[in-house]
Amino acid sequence: VETALVGATPPADNHTAFLRAQDAIPGGVNSPVRAYGSVGGDPRFLTSARGPYVTDVAGREYVDLVGSWGPALLGHAHPEVVAAVQEAAARGLSFGAPTVGEVELAEEVRRRVPAAEHVRLVSTGTEATMTAVRLARGVTGRPLVVKFAGCYHGHVDGLLAEAGSGVATLSMPGSAGVTEASAAETLVLPYNDLAAVEAAFAEHGDRIAAVITEAAPANMGVVPPSDGFNAGLRRLTSQHGALLILDEVLTGFRVSEAGYWGLENTGRAADARWTPDLFTFGKVIGGGMPVAALGGAASVMDHLAPSGPVYQAGTLSGNPVAVAAGLATLRLADEMVYDHVAAVATTVSDALGSALETAGVPHRVQRVGSLFSVFFGEAAARDGVRSYADAQAQDVYRHKPFFHAMLDAGVNLPPSLFEAWFCSAAHDEDAVGRILEALPAAARAAAEATPD
Ligand code: PLP
Repeated sequence: VETALVGATPPADNHTAFLRAQDAIPGGVNSPVRAYGSVGGDPRFLTSARGPYVTDVAGREYVDLVGSWGPALLGHAHPEVVAAVQEAAARGLSFGAPTVGEVELAEEVRRRVPAAEHVRLVSTGTEATMTAVRLARGVTGRPLVVKFAGCYHGHVDGLLAEAGSGVATLSMPGSAGVTEASAAETLVLPYNDLAAVEAAFAEHGDRIAAVITEAAPANMGVVPPSDGFNAGLRRLTSQHGALLILDEVLTGFRVSEAGYWGLENTGRAADARWTPDLFTFGKVIGGGMPVAALGGAASVMDHLAPSGPVYQAGTLSGNPVAVAAGLATLRLADEMVYDHVAAVATTVSDALGSALETAGVPHRVQRVGSLFSVFFGEAAARDGVRSYADAQAQDVYRHKPFFHAMLDAGVNLPPSLFEAWFCSAAHDEDAVGRILEALPAAARAAAEATPD
């Protein structure tokens, strides 16, 4: 048994693990923001995650505010989710045939978001947005897609221009390997600027297949849509015969039972609501396993094969083990869960704001539901951050010492200023207490930072 375990034994510390990883994997990671590019140092190689905590190869435990970049709404390894996965795995890992679990997950999505009349399950958020764009082109017969600077929709060729998330963290304008033809079919507009959208429709109206937008952007830091922005997109797309794709991969089933769409529309009279043509979901919908989805009006969704001519497929789409994790997660994510996550977000974001204020760091904490992030700098403090240009103008250099002070104190933050902090239902008093204890020293470290 010992011999069999030798190869699986993790190296003793993070530095050794990272050196070994860089020898085998580009940049040592399988997704760029994990590499600590903007904060420096060795990424923590994790061996386990439970509730609000993660543990690295050196055996050190951290309070986690990354939450696997979104899926861990209930905290890590919720016992009922793990049991559902074990039970499903014991019945078979993948069938390549339909299962009742997939139907139940689609029905659960529709219960929460009734406009998602038909739902197609895929494995990643990238697949969901890529398919949504193809579907919009297939339905309208038009080539162009409008996206907003600072919004991230996965690593789809045509959606990488001025993208948020890791593309923003690495200060990249887009990606090598994207053809000019593909880039030319994407119109990139400033976020929160309806006049720019109107102008784009005035110029290219009959060639625009869709506008895709993060329901509330959280990949350039958290930038709430201004009042009426999403509704305005709905109005303009409808007027011009284009589809509206609401990307809820990050916000869906996290900021409310019905995602960001639910937050903006709850309590409104039915005829005052706005509804996109297509939603994309990911992250929480898989509870930590690879599930994502797109959904929308049956009349649009049924253009997908095999009912319609727009092709989309996947060997592992609707994988039974992944679906079991997603279903268990959504079934556990009730009002109490959402209330608790929001309360944790309030406590932590308030403490973050006061620690920075006490330390004299100019900043603005922005929030959408239970998602929040901090922007450093006078301009952000004074005017708030409404666009990618605003987000890029912040004092990025303050993040590195702030991040490392938190990490040294045992708190795992996103290693990028352009990401949201992810709270969970498992963040109890102890875990939150450890975050609050760590904040004042980290704020002082941010105060002492100087531009490189
Ligand atoms: N859309 C949004 C809003 C996201 O935040 C992400 C991932 O962070 C994606 C799409 C892509 O999802 P995935 O990483 O599962 O491909």
